This record gives sequence, structure tokens and C-alpha cells, in this order.
Amino acid sequence: MNAKPRGRQFFQNPGPTNIPDRVLRAMDRAVLDFLSDEFMAIHRACHAGLKRVLKTDQTLYMYAASGHGAWEAGLANIFSPGDRVLMLESGYFSDSWTVMAGHLGLEVDVVSCDWRRGVSVDQVASRLKADTVHAIKGVLVVHNETATGLSVPIPDIRRALDETGHPALLLVDTISSLGCFDFQMDAWGVDITVGGSQKGLMLPTGMSFTGVSAKGVAASAKATTRRHYWDWKEMGAREPQRFIGTTPVHIFYGLEESLKMLEEEGLDAVFARHRRLANATRAAVRHWGGNANSGATAGAKGIAGDVGAIELFCAHDARLSDSVTAVMLPQGHDADAFRRTALNRFNLSLGGGLGPLGGRIFRIGHMGDLNEPMLLGALATVELAFKTCGIPYRQGGVDAAIQSLA
Ligand code: PLP
Repeated sequence: MNAKPRGRQFFQNPGPTNIPDRVLRAMDRAVLDFLSDEFMAIHRACHAGLKRVLKTDQTLYMYAASGHGAWEAGLANIFSPGDRVLMLESGYFSDSWTVMAGHLGLEVDVVSCDWRRGVSVDQVASRLKADTVHAIKGVLVVHNETATGLSVPIPDIRRALDETGHPALLLVDTISSLGCFDFQMDAWGVDITVGGSQKGLMLPTGMSFTGVSAKGVAASAKATTRRHYWDWKEMGAREPQRFIGTTPVHIFYGLEESLKMLEEEGLDAVFARHRRLANATRAAVRHWGGNANSGATAGAKGIAGDVGAIELFCAHDARLSDSVTAVMLPQGHDADAFRRTALNRFNLSLGGGLGPLGGRIFRIGHMGDLNEPMLLGALATVELAFKTCGIPYRQGGVDAAIQSLA
């Protein structure tokens, strides 16, 4: 059996992300009674700070659950079985949210797309325009498709709703965008924002939340989907505790610290850092593949077409994600075997292809607590693993990243 690689693991997954030492230290303290005044002060500070990150003055509900919990809370509180919603397809995570909505009894219409390019906003607008009786009660969109490294422009989706005069609620999953690049819940007219702790907020997995507009709160009064743990009425009745069940005290200790870190750096500077690191990653990938552009498409059945060289998965330049980059390998090379080599030999943890992209792509997360040396170390090790696995690549990707950063 191979010995475990030594040294610190370079953790380059697109979530969970590196937990900063400051957050770990903040969590290394004794538990407090979650109803005590001392803890309630922390709770309130976290609540207010999270609303600043979401850029909302409206309502926020939190859950001791991973992102799936907030997904379910968003759907169960505002829709009733039989309600029609419009899902904007983006990839594995929009598909998973679609399955969940179906299980809750919703009728899901999908605006489908090539996963490498994302939905056409014109197509979204024409679907809304065609719905003259306003049967569609909600439009669901994943801001950043973590599985493919593609972000969807939320203001354009809002504009499609406004220009067609459609009253549907707008639900946005910000699980891998919040704290990484700009999101403005109130200014962009988002009704339900779904977020989670383990990505841009740099925390352990286990807490998720929903920002809810006044229109969302009003809809929840009429929704009949069965719910208890997620029920906003139930939660509202427990003010100021706001949690059903035991509050995850240590996650709040961590959240208080991570919010401080985000605000000390400044959200705009946080976003600029993510952009810088994302640009450097993309420069390396483009260089490795000699700027290959196969024109291949992808979707629920996998990648259609031949990819002869390393290529960025996201083929829509304006939608390239600042928090994760998905990389296609030339056909005939197994991305999962490559990731195993990176992990087992060099202690570099990368994200894998999800669903139909399994084995065809790998993902470099560049979100959360990350700086230039961490990213350059990871990119250099990706090159090393390419060489070790016999994957053809053009040398000099790390230099391209340095040129981008310098
Ligand atoms: N939505 C997106 C965009 C995600 O990236 C994830 C997880 O990575 C989820 C939803 C599901 O969240 P969780 O795994 O925390 O339940």
C-alpha cells in the first residue's frame, strides 16, 4: 500500500472549501446555552451580517442543514402541490433541484440548454411571455452551476420577468456564488435566495439559509406543501431564537468570525480576489490546451463530440464562473484516474465530474480562503499530475497563470 502523502493537503475542491485558521480558532471554545443573552448577541450579529452579505433588508431564515435543506425550505414554504415552476437548466445542480421539486409535487417545466453555454435569456423571456394565464408560479435558477463552472446573469432573468410583466417569484440558488462574486438580493428583485455555509462563507458544512422577500413571505401564508422543520410560520413564532430545535452554536461562532473576515477585506475586494484567481486558473487551462475550442456540446447525456485537447468546460466567456473552473480532458483520458493520482501521490484534492460528466472533467475550486501561492501550488501540481498520467498538455500553464496574476 502506498504511504499517505506528507505535508499539508492542497484542498482545491469547489466546496467544502478551506476553513481559515481564524474560523477554526473561533470555533474552539466552550458551548454556550443557545438561549442565553451572551449567545443571542452572537446570533443577532450573525443574522445581521449575513443579511449584509446577501444585500437584503428582508427576512432571513436559517437551518441546521446542508444546502439541500434550504432548497427544500424555499420550495415547501411558497408552493403547493400541483403548482407549476420554471427551472432554468444549468447542469447537475439544477437537475437535482428539479428532482426535489417533483418529489414535493410541483410540475416542473425546464428551459433546457447546452450545459457548456447555459440558458438563453431570450428563450426564458419567450416561455414567460407565452404563459399568458400566469400558471408559472416560480422561476428557479442556480446562480453558479458548481458542476460546470458557469454563472447565470440574474439581473437579465429579472429583466425577462419584468419586461413580460410576469408575476412569478424568482428563486436563486447562491450556494457557490455568495461571498465569491456579486449577488444583490434586493436590488435584483430576488424573492428567495438559497445559501449554504461551506463555500464562500468558509465554514464547515451544516448550516444553510433562505433570504425571503415580502412577496415570498406573503406566498408562504397560502402554500400548502406539508412542512414542519422548514416552516417559516413556525420559525417566526420562535423569535428571537428563530431556530427549530437546537441551534448549532459552534457554526455561529465560526460564522461570526467569517463575516468579520469578509467585512475586514471588504466584499468588493473579496470579489476582485476571486476574479483574479479565476482569471489565472483560466489562463493556465487555456494554455495547457493550446486554446482548443472543439465546439462540443454537453448535457444530461454527457459530452457530445470529440475533445482532442484540454479545454475549459464553460464555452460562454461572459458566464465563466469566478468560483470554480471545470476542465475537460482529451477523449480517452479518465479524469477520475487523474484526480486519484493528484490526491494519492501529491496530496492535491480536486473536484470531480458530476452525473454524466463523471470521468470526463475535473474541477478546480478557487473560492473562499485562497491566495496566489495556494492557487499556483495547485496549478503546478495539476501539471505534474498531467505529466505523471501521460495526459497531453502544453507546458507553461503555470507561467500563463503568473502572467495573469502579475
Ligand atoms: N446547489 C449548488 C449550486 C451546489 O453547489 C450544491 C452543493 O455543492 C448544492 C446546491 C447542494 O448543497 P449541499 O451539498 O450543501 O446540500
